[in-house]
Amino acid sequence: MLIDSHIHLDAGEFDADRDELIAAARAVGVRGFVVPAVDRASFERVRALATARTDVCPALGIHPLYVMGAQEDDLGVLEGLLARGEARAVGEIGLDNFVTDVDPERQLEFFVAQLKLARRHALPVILHVRRAVDPILKQLRRIEVPGGIAHAFNGSRQQAQMFIDLGFRLGFGGAMSFEGSTRIRELARSLPLDAIVLETDAPDIPPAWGQGARNVPANLARYAAILAELRGISVDEVAATTGRNARDALGGWLPA
Ligand SMILES: [Zn+2]
Repeated sequence: MLIDSHIHLDAGEFDADRDELIAAARAVGVRGFVVPAVDRASFERVRALATARTDVCPALGIHPLYVMGAQEDDLGVLEGLLARGEARAVGEIGLDNFVTDVDPERQLEFFVAQLKLARRHALPVILHVRRAVDPILKQLRRIEVPGGIAHAFNGSRQQAQMFIDLGFRLGFGGAMSFEGSTRIRELARSLPLDAIVLETDAPDIPPAWGQGARNVPANLARYAAILAELRGISVDEVAATTGRNARDALGGWLPA
């Protein structure tokens, strides 16, 4: 089954037509949606979606680009929710060294604290990794968590292998749709299929055919077709394997 392993379904961009967009994605075979929070305000939105829909898998965490607005107390709130079993993963967490106006020290402080929460509650993590592969790997070697997903992976083959060795799957999506994304397309073609999960990151990262518009959940089926073509295998095999990978990365979560 097709599972979107990273989609911000709670985003305001979807308020007007969320149900229709989910129905459109389901109509092209997408059966599950992993929805990561980005800040404390989104914890409730993600939980409400997961309560209302059995095809939504909730992840809770504070995104590296949201740490400037976060309070230390938000980590306590997060821990309380994790302790009550309100999330299947901790995310979206990580480091972003591409954006220059977010204090790297504060990013690291929140990343490390949340890795420790994931370890304490035995939860996988959903990682945001931008120009930060090495510092993130360094923390993952220090603070052992039960794997997870490195979302929108954009690193070298060797770095991919290091994540795989630490029990992570790598997320591929819209970047594969650009002919010019040669490195990402080559990784998608050559990495073990068992290491790959599909994602849209909607409403962000619009594909080549949707520039200037918001990205939508149904695009996942087209990404599956691109991956199948790159690898010379059937879409059914892509769906079956990447769906199983997403389930395994999320502690056995399956959409009902
Ligand atoms: Zn995201």
